[in-house]
Amino acid sequence: MKNDVNIAVLPGDGIGPEVVREALKIIKVIESKLGLTINIDDAPVGGAGYEATGRPLPDASLAMARNADAVLLGAVGGPRWEHIDFSLRPERALLGLRSSLGLYANLRPARIFSALVDASTLKREVVEGLDILVVRELIGGIYFGQPRGVDTLEDGTRRGFNTLVYTEPEIERIARVAFDVAGKRNNSVCSVDKANVLESTNFWREVVTNMHSCYADVTLSHMYVDNCAMQLVRNPKQFDVILTTNMFGDILSDEASMLTGSIGMLPSASLGEKHAMYEPIHGSAPDIAGQELANPLATILSVAMMFKYSLNREQPSAWIEAAVESVLAKGVRTRDIMSRGMKEVGTQAMGDLVAEELEKRRDD
Ligand code: NAD
Repeated sequence: MKNDVNIAVLPGDGIGPEVVREALKIIKVIESKLGLTINIDDAPVGGAGYEATGRPLPDASLAMARNADAVLLGAVGGPRWEHIDFSLRPERALLGLRSSLGLYANLRPARIFSALVDASTLKREVVEGLDILVVRELIGGIYFGQPRGVDTLEDGTRRGFNTLVYTEPEIERIARVAFDVAGKRNNSVCSVDKANVLESTNFWREVVTNMHSCYADVTLSHMYVDNCAMQLVRNPKQFDVILTTNMFGDILSDEASMLTGSIGMLPSASLGEKHAMYEPIHGSAPDIAGQELANPLATILSVAMMFKYSLNREQPSAWIEAAVESVLAKGVRTRDIMSRGMKEVGTQAMGDLVAEELEKRRDD
């Protein structure tokens, strides 16, 4: 394991820089606890990239991301850039980073902290103890397949079309991620498809099943996507790892995230063969930017994922999650997760409190 680590930090827009600043406090604590040298460089992306260079993903920012051991991203976008050409919008930076860095596996955990069980819209008994992980294919499938577009048939009828295509290697590599990660959790993968209707996802099922022969310790089940959408609100605790395609994962992971209460709580990791990027699942929240209202915990928990998946250090990852749990157990809340009887704090205070809790774990 390397003791000298390079992290590229891309704060982005809106609340992005606010939540990233708090995550950096956490990285500093871990650096001193473990005696690591963590080199941090930051660069503009999104609207900030556009303002600096006229492009949402400046070459220098992409180069920095390519050279880093891991990338930490805040969020991009905002009303200021809504009028500009689609190809220059801040959100293009995300697609550019994902495809340029080959980030084919998107990991979105939906874990409920016990102190926040009542923040979910579902009943306590349905979500208490929930800990599932959606593994979504991120750079293939119908969002990228060719041909795509809108055209006009000879009889004048207009039509829109996209192509759902997956190659065997694309399915194998995402399945491998799901099986590997399940091996570090509860050894269970549910592969979600629409094999009864779509040939391409019947093929998905076949390739995932073949791949499973290399993972004797992991249980594999298959589920149609419509059933999975229903099971996620009926009995979400039946799942450990959900493996699925780009579009199904897009939809199911948003559904899974809301089981846990607030969008401000949910981290994510996007992994490729050589690169990895970590970010909260929320956007730049222009409505609360600059007001100390942003919940930094999703970004702090993204740092926990970074230590686990990119820096191969499970312990700091567990420490960070435990520190968050402990702060929440003390009744401290940002406004998005505030409830009666709790103490409301701002973005920076929440970051400070988690950092303090983390410090205490020095002697654990
Ligand atoms: P959003 O996630 O930014 O905000 C949705 C709602 O959740 C808002 O009410 C916001 O105040 C709240 N919220 C979000 N994060 C929060 C946090 N950490 N703490 C407390 N409350 C939080 O989604 P949106 O409003 O649809 O989009 C705003 C901008 O962000 C748009 O430009 C959009 O394109 C962009 N966006 C970027 C990303 C990304 O960078 N990965 C993802 C989604 C949206």
